[in-house]
Amino acid sequence: MSPKKRKKGFQTLTGMHDLLPQIQPYFQRIYQVVEGAANFYGFKKIETPILEEAELFSKGIGLSTEIVERQMYVFKTKGGEYVALRPEGTAPIVRAYIQHGMHNLPQPVKLWYFSPFFRYEHPQAGRYRQFWQFGFEVLGEESPAIDAQLIQIFFNILKELKFKNLVIEVNSIGDSECRPYYKKMLVSYFRAREHSLCSHCRERLRVNPLRVLDCKEEKCQRIKTLAPQIIDHLCQGCHQHFKEVLEFLDELGLPYHLNPYLVRGLDYYTRTVFEIFPTFPEKKKEEESFLPVALVGGGRYDVLVKWLGGKPTPASGGAAGIERIIDLMKKKEIKLPPSPRPQVFVAQLGTLAKRKALKLVEDFRKAKILVEESLGRDSLKGQLRAADRIGVRYVLILGQKEALEGTIILRDMVSGRQETIKLSRVVEEIKKRLKKF
Ligand code: AMP
Repeated sequence: MSPKKRKKGFQTLTGMHDLLPQIQPYFQRIYQVVEGAANFYGFKKIETPILEEAELFSKGIGLSTEIVERQMYVFKTKGGEYVALRPEGTAPIVRAYIQHGMHNLPQPVKLWYFSPFFRYEHPQAGRYRQFWQFGFEVLGEESPAIDAQLIQIFFNILKELKFKNLVIEVNSIGDSECRPYYKKMLVSYFRAREHSLCSHCRERLRVNPLRVLDCKEEKCQRIKTLAPQIIDHLCQGCHQHFKEVLEFLDELGLPYHLNPYLVRGLDYYTRTVFEIFPTFPEKKKEEESFLPVALVGGGRYDVLVKWLGGKPTPASGGAAGIERIIDLMKKKEIKLPPSPRPQVFVAQLGTLAKRKALKLVEDFRKAKILVEESLGRDSLKGQLRAADRIGVRYVLILGQKEALEGTIILRDMVSGRQETIKLSRVVEEIKKRLKKF
């Protein structure tokens, strides 16, 4: 960028943002809840590199998908390889599963992640070019119970983060036995009405006809209402699998909604697909107009391990958008549990006192007692004002005299009482008093 254009100094790139200190408590809270769920359900953490061979995604997600065609950051390295900033987490995890021979481990292999991803999206509210997702993947298990349990895990996490009125949308998009036939029916239905479709859908009809079903254009939505539904054309195996997924969801008492138009954007999905929304989809538009998309998306991907060069391995998983969750937590004014606040402030006056105060802070750290200090300040008044602002219960004051005598003043900020005690006893004394709270 020319210096002339850079009037305001360096800025983050469009669609990318700093995770400033004020957002960190949200990240930490979400991490804590996700990690708790992962431990309970027996998932092991995995972190794959941010850069992968670009072909991993074109082979895994599909060449004609929106992500690969338009949204992937791809570049050629000095060594001449084409690499991509990962746009999603499943293909890299499947790559790792194959590369590290995880099919030799007891199956299923259950993995989770909490990581940044990159998509060159059209900048708009709720869509970023670098965003964070957490996800759960189960490899080596075909049972519909796993699909239901994955949905339950995401649902539990959002509930624990205090989301109410969650709605789960589910569908089955069949497999290689029934989907090609359904695709043909769909294409012939839409071909007959092609002139009324939007230009995007006319293109989709050629490369990825299922995606016409989730177009948001009104005219396309109208046409799709009479389109054949895949649910009526599933093969015996897919029909039975989906029936059981729904029975498990019923058993778990989860509030799901069958959406015959839910297809998801990636080629690797088979059978079950799901999304979780913060409110009922019909109401979504008015209530969450700035967040028109799901918080969680996922599904089964029984073909992916084989596509990427491994043995045929059934698998299922999902991912949640962390920024979307945070945006909504803020909008709904969901409170975070309070973080522990220091109840003690160490104030000092004079060079010797400052030295002793520095050491005293370390003694408190060893005793695992949170303390606040302002060692950069010299004025006692300024330090007491800082202590007041924080709202601590006790202030410890070390002046020149106390430092020489090996004592310290302990002031109770509630009663206003002040006493002088031995410096060597102060940590024990504070510990005793804090226990009384
Ligand atoms: P996907 O990987 O597209 O299935 O997305 C899973 C979830 O990640 C979505 O439901 C969103 O919550 C979130 N997500 C996807 N793309 C973005 C983005 N560009 N910016 C922020 N969040 C996103």
